[in-house]
Amino acid sequence: PFGTIPELIACHAQTRPDHTALIEGEQRLSYGELDAQMNRIAAALQRDGLVPGDVIAICATTSIAYVETFFGALRAGVVVAPLAPSATADHLGAMLDNSQAKLLFRDADIAQQWPAAGHTGQCIALDDRAEAGKPFSDWLTPVGTLPQPVQPDPQRGFNLIYSSGTTGVPKGIVQSLGMRWQHVNRGNVNGYTRDTIAIAATPMYSNTTLVAALPTLSMGGTLVLMPKFNAAKFLKLVEQHKVTHAMLVPVQYQRLLDAPEFDQTDLSTLTTKFCTSAPFKADLKAEVLRRWPGKLIEYYGMTEGGVGCQLECHTYPHKLHTVGKPREGTIVVMIDDQGKPLPPGELGEIVGHSAAMMNGYYRLPEKSAEIEWFDDQGRRYLRTGDVGRFDEDGFIVLGDRKKDMIISGGFNIYPQDIEAELVQHPEVRECSVIGVPSREWGETPVAYVVARDASRNPAELGAEVKAWLNGRVGKTQRVADLVVVDSLPRSEIGKVLKRDLRELYQRSTA
Ligand code: ATP
Ligand code: MG
Repeated sequence: PFGTIPELIACHAQTRPDHTALIEGEQRLSYGELDAQMNRIAAALQRDGLVPGDVIAICATTSIAYVETFFGALRAGVVVAPLAPSATADHLGAMLDNSQAKLLFRDADIAQQWPAAGHTGQCIALDDRAEAGKPFSDWLTPVGTLPQPVQPDPQRGFNLIYSSGTTGVPKGIVQSLGMRWQHVNRGNVNGYTRDTIAIAATPMYSNTTLVAALPTLSMGGTLVLMPKFNAAKFLKLVEQHKVTHAMLVPVQYQRLLDAPEFDQTDLSTLTTKFCTSAPFKADLKAEVLRRWPGKLIEYYGMTEGGVGCQLECHTYPHKLHTVGKPREGTIVVMIDDQGKPLPPGELGEIVGHSAAMMNGYYRLPEKSAEIEWFDDQGRRYLRTGDVGRFDEDGFIVLGDRKKDMIISGGFNIYPQDIEAELVQHPEVRECSVIGVPSREWGETPVAYVVARDASRNPAELGAEVKAWLNGRVGKTQRVADLVVVDSLPRSEIGKVLKRDLRELYQRSTA
């Protein structure tokens, strides 16, 4: 039967009302309480005149009130647009403008950072602090209020998720209930049950978090909220709550393995770990498998949908350099620059077709058309902007984003190839390679490196590593410059922001 996620939560509230749905710090919320709060929120939205299909925006740190609002709105058929509090002012303004949100839910920290935030409608303070707007508890309808029932519609927008903004202004993606249902189903396949205790250690607005949070709550499991990630605290929470499922991004795995507490923590309950969002180096996957037994599942995909791939690292330890295979029902093709499909094995742009695919970007028809691709049967695919190839067993080897490729003297240079060499150097902890303008070559590679030993002199170490690297890579791959920095610019969900590095380099040489 096709239940909506709010309906499933109502079912759990009936069958196991006292079972914990959400934990945040000392606070716990049962399914009965969550369901009642969702009713009050849905009723309040209806009272304010919102109808199915209207949009609300949430720009706040993860909290119980955040999750209540997210699901409460869905019960009223209202589309939720979760926005990244860490977005730049420009990006936030663009998202608010694009979403045409009727209401903005935020907290005081956000209100301080973005007083106007480009939103002219009403603001609700999720943390009840009046600086941010009307306090949430005053805005809610009285305890026990029921909303008018809303007919579920698989086609209707369910949430409006913005892409991560890694390569530019985030694009709004309408995910239908039908599309979300695929995510829930995937959770089902990957072992989420009513006894699952999952931890959300990435911010709520990100698709990365939602692909784990939605299956947890629709199955009737428990979700532990971690508003701000910290390795030591994460390990404590896992032990304290006997967490069974976790979705983490690669840099979080690195931080956890590096944490002095790691080897002393009992992680035996955490049997299923997921990873997505950014390149997950084969060495790091191997280290996770070695030091942290249990299932390790990597997802490759994009918020727009279409290309969902999955690698069960524990089953395919010899395929850790890949992102796995397309899921059932997903068709992946590589295409060349002219849009011609390539034979298996050849490197090209990854395009994908599946049932979990967006209809288009919200109110951006030209951008929507740009990412579409049709095969000779007229089947619609979405372009990822990522480069990749199939290996001999049908596993996908992921390359760089097309926008990060370097064209130097007519040669295509893949930053990843250079990064793969660089991380072999014993003193390199993290690195990122970008293309910078060059009068002679058009573009030329430059490397940014974070040292393992922070006390090393950056200039000295930079010169040493550069000489070492340039002695190992091909002639066209030699870097013009190698800069040692304290840390790489990353988005909140751990993606290295190469556009920031390109700007940084430009500024440093201006
Ligand atoms: P924007 O489209 O706004 O520039 P974004 O592409 O980072 O941002 P998302 O939809 O969150 O927004 O991320 C999808 C992208 O993340 C993919 O196109 C791919 O580049 C990268 N990605 C996702 N999963 C993986 C993975 N397992 N390994 C490496 N990269 C991944
Ligand atoms: Mg993208």
